[in-house]
Amino acid sequence: MEKRIRELLAAIVHPETERDLVASGFVEHVAAAADKATVVLRFAKGRDPFAVKIKKAVEEALRREFPAAEVLVVVKEGGAAPRPEPKTTSSAGDIARVIAIASGKGGVGKSTVAANLAVALRNRGFRVGLLDADIYGPSQPKMFGVEGYVPDAVREEGVDRIVPADAQGIELMSIGFFIKPDDALLWRGAMAVSALKQMIHQTKWGPLDFLLLDLPPGTGDIHLSIVGELKIDAAVIVSTPQQVAVADVVRGVELFRNENIAVPVAGIVENMAWFTPEELPDNRYYLFGRGGARRYAEEHGIELLGEIPIVQSIMEGAEEGRPAAGIDPRVERYYREIADKVVTAVMKG
Ligand code: ADP
Repeated sequence: MEKRIRELLAAIVHPETERDLVASGFVEHVAAAADKATVVLRFAKGRDPFAVKIKKAVEEALRREFPAAEVLVVVKEGGAAPRPEPKTTSSAGDIARVIAIASGKGGVGKSTVAANLAVALRNRGFRVGLLDADIYGPSQPKMFGVEGYVPDAVREEGVDRIVPADAQGIELMSIGFFIKPDDALLWRGAMAVSALKQMIHQTKWGPLDFLLLDLPPGTGDIHLSIVGELKIDAAVIVSTPQQVAVADVVRGVELFRNENIAVPVAGIVENMAWFTPEELPDNRYYLFGRGGARRYAEEHGIELLGEIPIVQSIMEGAEEGRPAAGIDPRVERYYREIADKVVTAVMKG
């Protein structure tokens, strides 16, 4: 009976891996008795969008084959991806790795990339936190639809801690929870820095596998003080095709590579790399030039982590508080690749 159960599982294909459940390595346990069939499946991701559908398909197949038996299908999610070793950090909590997302200029999609990368890492089963440190335009609360969140403070071992928002399974802390968007520009450097320090050290994080930092655009004092507060394990630079050639990106990369800062640059993400109209899905229009990021990456010995086209669902997802990497399979695929490359880069370091 057990052999027959495995044959049935081998006939069910996971839509994403495009392989059957056995070949995908998703079958953790099979047990059979005269009146009982038990299957335990473990999916690689923390939240597999197909989990419910596949569980049903397995139950149906087993019931059809063994009408008299009691059928039990258990789905476990996540756990296939190796977690980074935890390391002891200061007061910032139990955080294994810190990844900064930076850009030379505003408007290139840095915050969008940070949000979607956080979702892609979550989908891989990692425990993820996101610190929105973009004081000039904190946009993460909107990206995750938690604008109204008012952080609670709890006292823990004599210290006040601020509770992050639960943003679709991601721990989110944003400077936007504390200031009105219109006031952001009035913040002087010192005020912003002290608020950021507080968010870094007093947030009740984790335990986390990855903390993503959505940095302000450019290369200012704020960057230097954040780097001084928190050991950053890797930087991801976001650029559009137009911006990649200009001095801002170069300065951004050089900031991290500066010997006093020495943050490894995991690579560059080219955002809005091309446009594909809905009705001509095979056409790519390189509105702002082509291959710039790839060339830049090659010339400077930096990895090209990925190229993301202009996609309507990315823009709409940002407006509606649901990052597209969590709902649009096409976007999910782009970000899954970037997430895997970032994880590899960070694990090496
Ligand atoms: P930044 O953080 O660099 O200032 P944002 O992440 O706020 O930039 O993005 C700027 C605007 O561009 C937002 O409206 C966002 O929805 C949109 N956007 C970013 N990336 C894409 C993309 N790949 N496709 C479509 N729209 C995008």
